[in-house]
Amino acid sequence: MRLVILGGPGAGKGTQSHLLCQQFQIKEIATGNILRTALADTSSALGQQAREYVERGELVPDTTMIQLVRQHLTQLEVASGWLLEGYPRTAFQAEELDFLLDDLQQRLTKAIYIEVPDAVMLERSLTRARLDDTPDAIQRRIDAFHERTKPMLDYYAFRQYLLRVDGSQAIAQVQAEILKKLEV
Ligand code: AMP
Repeated sequence: MRLVILGGPGAGKGTQSHLLCQQFQIKEIATGNILRTALADTSSALGQQAREYVERGELVPDTTMIQLVRQHLTQLEVASGWLLEGYPRTAFQAEELDFLLDDLQQRLTKAIYIEVPDAVMLERSLTRARLDDTPDAIQRRIDAFHERTKPMLDYYAFRQYLLRVDGSQAIAQVQAEILKKLEV
């Protein structure tokens, strides 16, 4: 099973990713978490490169992200399957992921899009206490989602990879909808 899980801030990507990774025993690669861990480590070059973007709620440049994902997808422990959480987020990242998967002779199973209205993104993000959850940063992340990530969904829809689920339901219902649509 090789999945990408997409959605705006507060859509429930993290929660659903954990559940799916437990269910299928696959490795979770959550780019936002990897970046936050790097930020906390003052000696991390990745943390230094990414800090200003993550703290402001802007997208980290594609070149940095593509390199990071390549590093993780070429590790042995992901050989039996993986889930990318919060990646890709731009059309360029989506294309580069395809090139990488071609190189690795792997094929994506599905791209899951957890859809929620902006008001839900805002409300859920405001109740968390992450360093990049300040009101300004949250608004920028919502804007980045609309400007950069949403147009990318067509890329997966056109190629029949996209599953849309209603993320405003309860956690268990969202999970049930994902499993049903994955036909497992
Ligand atoms: P997340 O936890 O997925 O909401 O990501 C938190 C932050 O990490 C984002 O606001 C971006 O600054 C950065 N980030 C995570 N994934 C990506 C990505 N695929 N492309 C660019 N920036 C990313």
